[in-house]
Amino acid sequence: MAIVQCPVCQKRISSLSKVCPHCSAPLGEMTPEKQREIAALKRQRHIQWAKRISLLALTLALAGALGWWFFEDTGWQWPPPPWAMGVLVMSFLFYVAGRAWLLWLHLSRPRQRRF
Ligand SMILES: [Zn+2]
Repeated sequence: MAIVQCPVCQKRISSLSKVCPHCSAPLGEMTPEKQREIAALKRQRHIQWAKRISLLALTLALAGALGWWFFEDTGWQWPPPPWAMGVLVMSFLFYVAGRAWLLWLHLSRPRQRRF
């Protein structure tokens, strides 16, 4: 018996279990190739979402900066209107979250064995 990773929820489970005790994924019916395929697909979806969050953050930052410029006649003058400040802070947080997620996905990627 060995401890393996559930291909669906990534939690540690026994290699002998037929059903994941955490997410109830039916493991007995899946071949190892199928399990790897599902894990890769899930990872790919997560990467797409992390990129979407980063893109959303950049769009928000642009909207905040343009809004700050056009909302008042004075242009980019400190301090920005509170709503523009809110949008900019939010975009920054979204960007950091998206990038941190991407970094984590990169660091936790399955490594190929080299012979
Ligand atoms: Zn699971």
